[in-house]
Amino acid sequence: MKNYEIVCIGGGPAGITIAKNLGKVKKVAIIRPEDFSMIYCAMPYVLENEIPMEKSFKSDRLVTDAGADLIRAEVTKVNFHKKNLSTNDGEIYGYDKLIIATGADPIRPPIPGIDLEGVYVFKTGNHLRSIKETIDTHGIKHAVVVGAGAIGIEVAQALNKICEDCHLVDMTPHVLPNLVEAEMIEPVEEALRKSGVQLHLNSRVEKLEGNKSVSRVTLDNGEIISLSDSAEEDDTDPHGIVVFSVGMRARTDLFEDTELEIGKQGIIVNDRMETNIKGVYAVGDCVQFTSGITGEVIPGKLATNAVPMARMLAKNILGDDRHYPGFFNGAATKVEDLYVGGTGLREFEARSTFDVLVAYAEMTTIFPILPNSKKIKMKLIADRKSRRVLGAQMVSGSPVIDKLNTVTGAIQAHLTVQHLAQLSYAAQPYQSFYPANNVIVACAEKILDELR
Ligand SMILES: Cc1cc2nc3c(=O)[nH]c(=O)nc-3n(C[C@H](O)[C@H](O)[C@H](O)COP(=O)(O)OP(=O)(O)OC[C@H]3O[C@@H](n4cnc5c(N)ncnc54)[C@H](O)[C@@H]3O)c2cc1C
Repeated sequence: MKNYEIVCIGGGPAGITIAKNLGKVKKVAIIRPEDFSMIYCAMPYVLENEIPMEKSFKSDRLVTDAGADLIRAEVTKVNFHKKNLSTNDGEIYGYDKLIIATGADPIRPPIPGIDLEGVYVFKTGNHLRSIKETIDTHGIKHAVVVGAGAIGIEVAQALNKICEDCHLVDMTPHVLPNLVEAEMIEPVEEALRKSGVQLHLNSRVEKLEGNKSVSRVTLDNGEIISLSDSAEEDDTDPHGIVVFSVGMRARTDLFEDTELEIGKQGIIVNDRMETNIKGVYAVGDCVQFTSGITGEVIPGKLATNAVPMARMLAKNILGDDRHYPGFFNGAATKVEDLYVGGTGLREFEARSTFDVLVAYAEMTTIFPILPNSKKIKMKLIADRKSRRVLGAQMVSGSPVIDKLNTVTGAIQAHLTVQHLAQLSYAAQPYQSFYPANNVIVACAEKILDELR
């Protein structure tokens, strides 16, 4: 048996962060089974052949150069009492501290036909490889993506570029429902439709059919999407693929029937990432955590939540006393030429706890007299009583993440719309609107006008 001060199960962004922060000062092992840790965010761009597969592999040196041991195996059992774990290659590793960073698995909904060939989910390098192989081997022409969240949208755009037709199905009335609200999304849906993606909104997939391979997708409104090239629709060779992107579920099966406390959304931890078992911590997509605004348990399966959790835990192990502030869920995606992002609470969510005020502002991202200036539209959400900033959404022809992060910072720091109205901003012709205005300030001023 080999002993470590710290063993981390999982080599995704959370596990790598543990290695980077502790590898040189503690005896650390990172255990993960896959050949490569992936840059997941880059996978849709590999699918559309924008970048080669190898570019989406993270180097193992991120772990080994940081001084940690990388163990290529799957953990099959953890003995919390003996403080050791077993792997599928028959090894046993002892630990002083155990960090669980097992991530999340994509949900495969129990729909009739889900096990047909040509039906996929999209999370790992193996999923990406299988989809690419099927497309290349069979010259796939038809694609259906189920789930119009950020991952589904990115996969649909990729498949639309390499297939003759691509359908995007979602049960909600508009795409990106977790990022932005209905009144912001019209140009985004228009851009998708213009690119050729066929939207089926307010629609659930009822069943998948085919003879070995999927050839028909039936929606609950009776609509049938055919994925077959032949009239009979009973070919055994796949002509189309269906990719489900309908959410992630914390990967906790290893701990079933153990004393580790697990909630509906993942492993239960406190704000120091401590589980109910002494010396056992959990970080990243495998944990359940709360909103940094309302304190309620909310989803937050993002690398931008996983990495700060892991860094905070590592710093605490080194002696700091940090506390994880909760999820704010700032996130963004790109739809054709548009950049879309959201942070904090959406208006309808905020309304269940707060008396809400909203404001919109539209301007250009650089001086409008310059070539290539693009529009930006922003929505700001605030609490009437405390004036606290609660959320924001942005759609623009230029990247929105920096502006989004400014608002997230304001939400995190419990700032009010007065603070945002007084934001001290920089301006320059090629980098901002005129000094006379700023989209965040404009929204905040509109809310203050309403309050006056
Ligand atoms: C296509 C795609 C695009 C994305 N885009 C973004 C984005 O733009 N921005 C963003 O913030 N987030 C994005 N995400 C989400 C982000 O990838 C995840 O939130 C992040 O990977 C979570 O990191 P993690 O380390 O907690 O878990 P994971 O990355 O899931 O890693 C879990 C690790 O644990 C290992 N493991 C599990 N069980 C065992 C076991 N029994 N034994 C050994 N090892 C085990 C796994 O093999 C894996 O190495 C995207 C995800 C996908 C799929």
